Amino acid sequence: MPIDATLPYDDANIFARILRGEIPCQKVFEDDFALAFHDIAPQAPIHILVIPKGRYVSWDDFSATASEAEIAGFVRAVGQVARDNGLVAPGYRLLANIGAHGHQEVPHLHVHLFGGRPLGAMLS
Ligand code: 5GP
Repeated sequence: MPIDATLPYDDANIFARILRGEIPCQKVFEDDFALAFHDIAPQAPIHILVIPKGRYVSWDDFSATASEAEIAGFVRAVGQVARDNGLVAPGYRLLANIGAHGHQEVPHLHVHLFGGRPLGAMLS
């Protein structure tokens, strides 16, 4: 079910539990600001999720309230993950679903990196 991105942060959400190490993930990157791991239900040959370590529901509260260091750290981490996984030269898609109309299901900010094949004009 899509979430309401204006609700307060829920510490029981699945990505919060992954960050706390309560649920395993296939990690590909971690630093002080971000964690990246393979999506459990990949929609492309490469489908990686990158999440900030802070408690942010979506791009909305993150962009409005995160510190400069958190924003810079997260953006740099996303680029690093793309480079580390060979996505830059062939190209890839970077996407964030936000709230109900964006069909966001997990209420912790995440960006999807899709790659490994031509992706067409747009995912529906
Ligand atoms: P959203 O629609 O919120 O942007 O996408 C959430 C993504 O999280 C989906 O692509 C879904 O497959 C992925 N996901 C949900 N639960 C888990 C999990 O426990 N582990 C991992 N690795 N991915 C998950």
